[in-house]
Amino acid sequence: MYHEKITIAIDGFSSSGKSTMAKDLAKEIGYIYIDSGAMYRAVTLYCLENNLFTSDDSIDMHALKQQIDNIRISFRFNPTTQKPDTYLNDINVEKEIRGMDVSEKVSFVSTLDFVRKAMVAQQQEMGKKKGIVMDGRDIGTAVFPNAELKIFVTASPETRAQRRYNELHEKGQSVSYEEILENVKKRDYIDQTRDIDPLKQAEDALLLDNSHLSIQEQKAWLMEQYNKVVNS
Ligand code: C5P
Repeated sequence: MYHEKITIAIDGFSSSGKSTMAKDLAKEIGYIYIDSGAMYRAVTLYCLENNLFTSDDSIDMHALKQQIDNIRISFRFNPTTQKPDTYLNDINVEKEIRGMDVSEKVSFVSTLDFVRKAMVAQQQEMGKKKGIVMDGRDIGTAVFPNAELKIFVTASPETRAQRRYNELHEKGQSVSYEEILENVKKRDYIDQTRDIDPLKQAEDALLLDNSHLSIQEQKAWLMEQYNKVVNS
C-alpha cells in the first residue's frame, strides 16, 4: 500500500482532453495540477510580446537565450473558474496563451533545447514533493521518468480539432474548423519528430484512446487506474 503521495504523468497529443482529465483527477484526490503546455505557451507569448520572432518566422535565438532565466512562470488558483491560471512574470496570461497566434508558434519554440531545459528544471522543482498531476508531451519520458502512474492519451485528429473548435468558440474566438485541424496535425508532426524529448508513449505508460469516451467515462477509467496504483 502506498502511504505517500505519488507522481502522475499524463502525456498525449494536442487537444486530446488530457488537461481536462488531469485537472479533474488532481481536484478529486487533492493533488497539485500543472499544465506544462501552458509553460511553453507562456514562453511563446513572451517571444511575441518582446518581438523575438524575426520576419522569416524564426526566432532571435541569442536574445531568447539571454532572457530565458528571466521568464518566470507560475500558476495561481482562480476561485471563479475553479482552475489554475497561468502567470508570466506575475501577470495573468491565461487568456492570451490560448489564442491562435500562440498555438501557431508554440511547437517551434518547444523544439529549442535551452527552452526545454529551463522548463523541465522548473517542472521537476514543482514536482519535488510528489502529490502532483502534470500533463504534457514528455512528462513520463523526460520530466518524471519514475512517475508511479503514467498515462498516454490519444484520439483522432478530427475529434481533437472538433474539441478545440468548441472550446475556442465557447470563449468567443472565431476560428474555422479547417484552420484548427491543420494546426493540430502540424503540431502532432513537430512534437513527434523533434530531436529533444519528442512526444512518444513511455514504455510503462497506459494507453487511453478517448475518441469515443465521454468525460465521465474517462474520469472513471482514470480513477480506477489511480486506485490500482495506490492500493497495490
Ligand atoms: O498542451 P498544449 O497543446 O497546450 O501544449 C502546447 C505545445 O507545447 C504543444 O503543441 C507542444 O509543442 C509543447 N509542449 C511540449 N512539451 C510539453 C508540453 C507541451 O513540447 N511537456
